[in-house]
Amino acid sequence: LLYNQVQDLKGTIRVYCRVRPFLPGQSDGQSTIDYIGENGNIMIVNPHKQGKDARRMFTFNKVFGTNVTQQQIYLDTQPLIRSVLDGYNVCIFAYGQTGSGKTYTMSGPDLMAEETWGVNYRALCDLFKISKARLDIIQYEVGVQMIEIYNEQVRDLLVLDGSNRRLDIRNNSQLNGLNVPDASWVPVKCTEDVLDLMKIGQRNRAVGATALNERSSRSHSILTVHIRGKELVSGSILKGCLHLVDLAGSERVDKSEAVGERLREAQHINRSLSALGDVISALAQKSTHIPYRNSKLTQVLQDSLGGHAKTLMFVHINPEVNSIGETISTLKFAERVA
Ligand code: ADP
Ligand code: MG
Repeated sequence: LLYNQVQDLKGTIRVYCRVRPFLPGQSDGQSTIDYIGENGNIMIVNPHKQGKDARRMFTFNKVFGTNVTQQQIYLDTQPLIRSVLDGYNVCIFAYGQTGSGKTYTMSGPDLMAEETWGVNYRALCDLFKISKARLDIIQYEVGVQMIEIYNEQVRDLLVLDGSNRRLDIRNNSQLNGLNVPDASWVPVKCTEDVLDLMKIGQRNRAVGATALNERSSRSHSILTVHIRGKELVSGSILKGCLHLVDLAGSERVDKSEAVGERLREAQHINRSLSALGDVISALAQKSTHIPYRNSKLTQVLQDSLGGHAKTLMFVHINPEVNSIGETISTLKFAERVA
């Protein structure tokens, strides 16, 4: 190994909570966030309850308040990203109800405004920067895949011809984190290459979306960055893999209201998010049986969850009073995996 920059090696699962601000035009009269304390504490207040039952404290590795910038978020993510260049497999998830800021954290609100970029572009820029700095010692190749899981079917988001066929998952340690071998694998050399691919991915993701039911909130999207480094003196090869996962919205749908396609989507989402929670909490408890087989999501990520891999979960909440139910269930989910 070269220099492993991860300071905090105890525990390979980290949970960060991010609170999005009120959006313009939203009432900011009442917030469900009472305060954010030191040491990763957040106090939630439920205005529908009285006395002792109204307040509840949750504790995570870090809690980011509404004024935290994209740059600051990235600084606390960077050590994990950089460990990919030392041969680690890393998964970063964005979890939360629709509208809570998952895509804001992972991609950012505006591709054209660099200061608003999310974790994924910053991560790739950083990987290119470090690999350039190490050029005399080690030669890296970087490639990306972008897939979507919708209704338990895996699809390639980087197809140019729009064919968008279903892909199989293969779990084979030889594949080194690339468990969907038939998805397009595109070599990238610089940030512009990545931006071009993201545009293709976003376009493909929009296909089939209706105005009422935006596809991106009903599917998981996974950007996988694969690196292969060759040490120039020894000739030895190291491989590392980074998965950046923008999960489907975690909100529960009212079973009495959802019917047909909408109900089917909701059931697939609920099942795969609980399968993810089960896998991460089994790993956190060092359980001997890890239930990877229960969803496509955990199968795709199998060799990047557990073992020597590192996991970071961003859980997103918003401060609105009418989201209190979802906010608490999001925080309970996060508490279970922490
Ligand atoms: P999700 O992907 O979870 O459905 P989005 O990332 O699309 O949610 O965020 C919903 C809205 O809130 C968007 O308009 C986004 O720009 C805004 N938003 C989310 N997080 C933040 C933040 N930290 N600061 C400012 N605006 C945010
Ligand atoms: Mg989104």
